[in-house]
Amino acid sequence: MKKLISTLCALFVAFTASPVMAKTVKIGMAIDDLRLERWQKDRDIFVDKAEELGAKVYVQSANGNEQTQISQIENMISRGVDVLVIIPYNGEVLSNVIAEAKRDGIQVLAYDRLINNAEIDFYLSFDNEKVGEMQAAAMLENKPSGNYFLMGGAPTDNNAKLFRQGQMNVLQPKIDSGDIKVVGDQWVDSWLAENALKIMENALTANNNEIDVVVASNDATAGGAIQALDAQGLAGKVAISGQDADLAAIRRIVAGTQTMTVYKPINTLASRAAEIAVELGNEEAPQANSSLNNGLKDVPAWLLEPITVDRTNIKQTLVADKFHAESDIYQ
Ligand code: BGC
Repeated sequence: MKKLISTLCALFVAFTASPVMAKTVKIGMAIDDLRLERWQKDRDIFVDKAEELGAKVYVQSANGNEQTQISQIENMISRGVDVLVIIPYNGEVLSNVIAEAKRDGIQVLAYDRLINNAEIDFYLSFDNEKVGEMQAAAMLENKPSGNYFLMGGAPTDNNAKLFRQGQMNVLQPKIDSGDIKVVGDQWVDSWLAENALKIMENALTANNNEIDVVVASNDATAGGAIQALDAQGLAGKVAISGQDADLAAIRRIVAGTQTMTVYKPINTLASRAAEIAVELGNEEAPQANSSLNNGLKDVPAWLLEPITVDRTNIKQTLVADKFHAESDIYQ
């Protein structure tokens, strides 16, 4: 009898102590455009981390097409994902498809770019206004006066507007004092280098090559602009900003044709995003350090700090973080 009771007790303990089978969170990751180096990194780190946390991830890239992205999200909804992680191509047009997702009880995380007027649950990004401030500050430090050309990002990307806002926070007093003159202001569709190249060629022609600074909002567009500068023998003479610490941009910084970039540790962003997505999938509320209004609601957010990189601190930042191997940078 005693033995029977102790066996029953042992069985009871084993049963109650056994971990509850964790649910496999299904995540749909809808990426704007995998043609840009930065997003391939985001995808790889996100998927690895989410899988490590036991989730399943379906990834799709819309290659810069609004309608494709909407169809891909619809497809993920019908596949029964628990969480949508969206890097929107156009942050203004997803309200309906997100309303559809919410009707199915799906959680939505806006990744890196905010989605406006939509019922999203969380936003994770960097302090994007600060990115713009860093770009403009570095340009002023390099050339405190002269002709400035502003090259904004994709007009459909909320971040592009925040970068510009940050740039203007720093530049406006210098414009007002007459120290610098803005000789042109253009936005680059889809952030593509080939579009930036054409814009820069036209800007140089229109200004008889008299441009001292290009405030480029990211590395892809800086790359296109530098190609146009190079064709006029101006690469390395004109100061130019960037963002993303793309390998090609870091090599240009070493070669002296690009002045700086803004490094955003994607490892931290993508890993944190995977954790947040899994938390959302398990109906937990992720920790926030900020909140942004998207036109419909105050969205809880987690914003990370960007870092200025120029030729003086490549090793302490990118190499130390293993973002790029030293041998790849200094070939
Ligand atoms: C991101 C940048 C990126 C750009 C183009 C922006 O929303 O914040 O890091 O360079 O999109 O993909």
